[in-house]
Amino acid sequence: MHRGLIEELVRKNDSRILLAVIDGLGDISIEELGGRTPLEAAITPEMDSLAAGGALGVHIPVARGITPGSGPAHLGLFGYDPVTCQVGRGMLAALGVGFDLKHGDLAARINFCTLNEDGIVTDRRAGRISTEKCVELVEMLADIRIKGVEIFVIPVKQHRACVVFRGSGLLDDLEDTDPGLAGQRPVRVTGSGKSHRIVREFQRKTARILKNRNPANFILMRGFTLYREFPSVEERFGLTAAAVALYPMYRGVAGLVGMDIMKCSSDDIPGQVKAVKKGLESGHDFIFLHHKPADSAGEDGNIQAKISAIEEFDRALPSFLDLGFDVVCITGDHSTPCTMKLHSWHSVPVLIHGGPQRSGYSSAFSEKQALSGALGSFMSTEIMPLLLASAGKLAKFGA
Ligand code: ZN
Repeated sequence: MHRGLIEELVRKNDSRILLAVIDGLGDISIEELGGRTPLEAAITPEMDSLAAGGALGVHIPVARGITPGSGPAHLGLFGYDPVTCQVGRGMLAALGVGFDLKHGDLAARINFCTLNEDGIVTDRRAGRISTEKCVELVEMLADIRIKGVEIFVIPVKQHRACVVFRGSGLLDDLEDTDPGLAGQRPVRVTGSGKSHRIVREFQRKTARILKNRNPANFILMRGFTLYREFPSVEERFGLTAAAVALYPMYRGVAGLVGMDIMKCSSDDIPGQVKAVKKGLESGHDFIFLHHKPADSAGEDGNIQAKISAIEEFDRALPSFLDLGFDVVCITGDHSTPCTMKLHSWHSVPVLIHGGPQRSGYSSAFSEKQALSGALGSFMSTEIMPLLLASAGKLAKFGA
């Protein structure tokens, strides 16, 4: 990535920024709520008061009409173009289970599957075996040795696992071996590169070990990605950043851009408050705080749970704000409308408080008010410059 305008203008100061992400925050009108969204229906006095004294807008996670995964959506929030900085599925799977990827590692997702005696895939998910079964199968694969690489096989969930190959000179120019449909043969790994040879041998040895197992007697691999670290937020934005997130994937994505990952003493709000406090005390001037429950509620289509998740965050907010931030941003990584039970392409409300803002446009934090807020509509990657500017961390451009 080349050094852009923002990187040129960044200057350091003592201002402290909080970026709080309520995962899947955005939603669309829901009939049962009289046409309101969960954020509109939720009782959120803390965020409403920040909205009144700050500025609102909406961000577009990747591009109009594009539905993002949480990984790319977070990269956008961190100021990285999610399209040019792609995080492959293999990499996300490994990050998602908290695996400590190193530069140059080759990661891929694994599905345990069922092959019939003719070598045709009859079930790409091996009947969705239990996670316990998955762990047992992964243990059987742990002894596979291949010259020139270290191999890590990590169970994920049900029929899903991932594999990481560690060694020099690996490349990710590999096709998925998953044919994508039952009734076909697995795609053969051709090619003469080191990675091809290793993946082929891994597949062969796996097949030998799983041969007599039922229903999981083979593996399919997809999403081969080489792990390359991106330039850090310190290099790009002069920020010493820390992440406080309870789920491994979010810690992984934050780690990818060089944020320090703070340990939480407990998996709850008090644990997170302590971690944020520790982050600030250890000299970080940017804290990324992740709150997951709203997204899970949206994916379950549970409107009341989404409202409760947002209200829970609002109640917790003062304990974070009391730690002393100059600029606070509250937003989501994408929308997860309850009526869709999926991530969506809809824009996401953003609240920025602190620093000189064009305030007075809004009285509450909601989709409707955000759409007519002072910040307007912008790309997620523009949040970081707005936060830097609000914190007085961007110099003037030109004389
Ligand atoms: Zn998300």
